[in-house]
Amino acid sequence: MSPTEKLRYRNMEDYGFGPNVMKKTKVCARCGKMVGANAKTCPDCGEKLPGETLFDRYKRQHKCCPDCDTVLSADSQYCPNCGKQILQKAVGYQENTPQGGRSNEA
Ligand SMILES: [Zn+2]
Ligand SMILES: [Zn+2]
Repeated sequence: MSPTEKLRYRNMEDYGFGPNVMKKTKVCARCGKMVGANAKTCPDCGEKLPGETLFDRYKRQHKCCPDCDTVLSADSQYCPNCGKQILQKAVGYQENTPQGGRSNEA
C-alpha cells in the first residue's frame, strides 16, 4: 500500500465515516441532516431523499475498488485491500490526465 493510498483512507475516516457507516447514511439535500440509508424522506424537514447513500456520492468523487469498496488513489492498479486489479477507466470514475500521454492497453 502506498502512502497516498493510506492517506486517502485516513482522510475519509477523519470525517468520522468509515465506508460501512457511509453506506448506511444519506444526507438531506435541504437541511443537511444525516439520515439512515433506508429512509425515504427527511424526518426533520420532509424533503424527499435521493436513492444514493453518502457512500455512493463519495464513490463518484473518488475511485474505489469494485469488489470491496476500498478507496483507491487515482493511479492505483491494484486494490490494497483485496488485491483486485483495477481498470484505469472504471465506470463512474473520471480520470484526470493533464498530460494525456499514456494509454495502457491491457
Ligand atoms: Zn431535511
Ligand atoms: Zn478491493
